[in-house]
Amino acid sequence: MTSDSQLRVEPTSEPVAPEQRAQIHVEPGFGRFFTDHMVTMKWTPQADWHDGRVHAYGPLLLDPATAALHYAQEVFEGLKAYGHDDGSVWTFRPEVNARRFQRSAHRLALPQLPEHLFLDAVDSLVRTDREWVPHGAETSLYIRPFMYASEVFLGVRPAQHVTLCVIASPAGPYFSHGPEPVTIWLSTEYSRAGIGGTGAAKCGGNYAGSLLPQRQAAENGCHQVVFVDSAERTWVEELGGMNLFFVHDDGTLVTPELGGTILEGVTRDSILTLAAEFGLKVDERRVSVEEWRDGVANGQIVEVFACGTAAVITPIGALRWPGGEVVGAVDEAGEVARMLRRRLLDIQYGRAEDPYGWMHRVC
Ligand SMILES: *Cc1c(COP(=O)(O)O)cnc(C)c1O
Repeated sequence: MTSDSQLRVEPTSEPVAPEQRAQIHVEPGFGRFFTDHMVTMKWTPQADWHDGRVHAYGPLLLDPATAALHYAQEVFEGLKAYGHDDGSVWTFRPEVNARRFQRSAHRLALPQLPEHLFLDAVDSLVRTDREWVPHGAETSLYIRPFMYASEVFLGVRPAQHVTLCVIASPAGPYFSHGPEPVTIWLSTEYSRAGIGGTGAAKCGGNYAGSLLPQRQAAENGCHQVVFVDSAERTWVEELGGMNLFFVHDDGTLVTPELGGTILEGVTRDSILTLAAEFGLKVDERRVSVEEWRDGVANGQIVEVFACGTAAVITPIGALRWPGGEVVGAVDEAGEVARMLRRRLLDIQYGRAEDPYGWMHRVC
């Protein structure tokens, strides 16, 4: 494929040896190993986006007064490149990530990266490191674009020097024996987002605030934490990094409505579209903790699952809170979760037609 990339490619002189890369591909895990190259690009008000390069992966040299380290002016994205059986490599709806990256940047008073530059940066890195795309079942190359205030300044205002990076990491199957239901901890003490806050932006700060409740979840034998709204502490919002769905016995797929405090997931949006193929009605509305608890107990809610790029669909077997719990199906994923997961993966791995034009060929 010809490339009209605006990025300069400077190949590394010290790539990882093919045998070592093959070794990494045997069991890549998640986010532990990184490819040979990375993208960097700089922004200033005067020069706009400039100096975009694909170069050797390596540490950043940061002045201790770099603004992002103090005021967390940072946003990120997460998407995957999938190797198809014919050797081609594809990403899934990358333009949706590009637009979300712009919205996140806007909320954090960071400059907006034009959509074509986002796609160019991701495609250039994946092309350069295409040997790093694993080809085992349900493996992928996880791509992490991020942008941070790189200005050396302790004054509190939007940075006038910003850096974009894109790095990539081979990822193994999230579940090695098929999707297994997880137990979720309901945080009654902490919130993830508030009205007018940064909940709808994909920023590191939201994750920092979720780590303490996440630790409490683990201390209570749970895998993940679910957050409720901060005003009434009544309405279910999402997990620390995944959106939520409820399957009702009348064939309705219910998900908490967006409204500024919930991150608009690409997986969430794709599931809302795919639902029609299975004759499921969709309903984006408020869901109370009480509805969840009672619905699972009385059988009106037949499945609960979480979704996101990393794990695709994670069935939720039980909801636990201080002093109680409600348990649904804990042995295996429900039928709807399994169908939707299979359908999404079939499109992503090129095993099925892509009637929505979601796949983007990189190389
Ligand atoms: C990234 C993220 C999601 C999932 O979004 P996808 O685009 O589906 O990966 C959900 N919630 C939060 C808070 C997130 O950061």
